[in-house]
Amino acid sequence: MADYLDIGVVRIQSWLTRTPVLRGRRGASAMISRATEREEIEKALALVEGLAEINEVAGQVDGVVSLQLLTGSKDGIRQVEEAVASHLRQHLPAASLQATYWRGETYLDARTGDPVAERDWPAPVAEWPPGRPCQWCRTWPATEVVGVGDDGQETALCADCLLRNDPRNSGRNTSRRRIPRAERELRKRLGDETAPLPDEFQVLARQGPNDDNTHLATLHADGNAIGKFIRQVRGKQRKSPGTSLNVAQLLDEATWQALVSAVQSVHQGREKLPVIPHLVGGDDVLVSVPVHDGWRFAEELQHSFDQHLQRFSSELATTLPSLSVGLVIHHETTPFSTVVELAESLLGKAKQEHRGDRAALAWQDITNEGPTPTGRPSVPHSALRQQWEALRELAGLTPSTRSRLAQLQRAVRKGEGGATEARDEHVGRRGLHSAVGPFVSGNAMDLLDALGMVRWWSQS
Ligand SMILES: [Zn+2]
Repeated sequence: MADYLDIGVVRIQSWLTRTPVLRGRRGASAMISRATEREEIEKALALVEGLAEINEVAGQVDGVVSLQLLTGSKDGIRQVEEAVASHLRQHLPAASLQATYWRGETYLDARTGDPVAERDWPAPVAEWPPGRPCQWCRTWPATEVVGVGDDGQETALCADCLLRNDPRNSGRNTSRRRIPRAERELRKRLGDETAPLPDEFQVLARQGPNDDNTHLATLHADGNAIGKFIRQVRGKQRKSPGTSLNVAQLLDEATWQALVSAVQSVHQGREKLPVIPHLVGGDDVLVSVPVHDGWRFAEELQHSFDQHLQRFSSELATTLPSLSVGLVIHHETTPFSTVVELAESLLGKAKQEHRGDRAALAWQDITNEGPTPTGRPSVPHSALRQQWEALRELAGLTPSTRSRLAQLQRAVRKGEGGATEARDEHVGRRGLHSAVGPFVSGNAMDLLDALGMVRWWSQS
């Protein structure tokens, strides 16, 4: 039996989006990468030498430190936990941390069971009275007034936001700044380590078509039924010890391959990469892309994750996990915390509606539908693939034709008398059957939803 200790940031997305300012968000990505990168953890472990080492099996995940304990003594374990937590606290002052202990033959065995113990390290609470609030997060008291942004505007910031604003974390000067791990890794995998990536939402949105370039799609994806999958594979591996596939690394690799394929599918020779990868690790992805690229990106992400795992299907001989997606369409200025919260809730809905059995996607358009969940059913990935050509055709209709169709379909949805006949008559008269037909015959996708999806659609 071996003992493991994972210490990580709790609800990493909400810490990341604590500041509405994009500069702060990207700075935070860099801080997280820096805090949990190997060299930094080795430094922290030097203080408790001989008590713990880096858990090589876990793979690198932003915001999580995974260790194998070399001591069984309570006191020793506590020392390790304190050393790592105080290291993380120093780099990420306002993040909430959690320490989790696992025990098992291997790390993966340990992770398939319940943790032995957990301990929370909540973010420190601001002292009362709080004084002047930080102008970025409005949560902590400001401790310093500094110049912010290209024009150096004087801004009062708290300890956490000061680090986000540190030019090494958020600056444009590439020789000095720290690059978030997801950006670094993505460039490397695309074979271009200096490929320019947009560092602000505006810059990303401007990569859309000239007359319509202020919107983005933010996607939150993660694997379905991963725990069940790992348990099944480990069960098989125990019976036939010859197989040694590392499941954690396999999933990490599938996720990265999926991301790289998705980026390539929408790149189309643009000068900058059309993506901001906020977080990538394990089977988890949070990215933003120009809005017209959102659907292709999502489709390719799910498809390619599947393709990668298929290659190991005979070796794994079990039901393979799939990737579900929450996709939010939003304006470049929509508060990112609102976007991320909605993306997370949509992802949960997609997973729940299909009980994690298959890849699905739930989406919402904040600009046209607002940020409150609409209750639209999620779309299975198979249906998205199957209807791809029909969606393309629908997207190719003129905006006024689509708007008329939406009007007719809304009447059908409301159950107005004669609405179905009116719609069908219009479709017949205008010869729209091949574009509309697939969405009016009790299909997985309703016409009104399909019209909403193709509002922003790239035909190339
Ligand atoms: Zn702050």
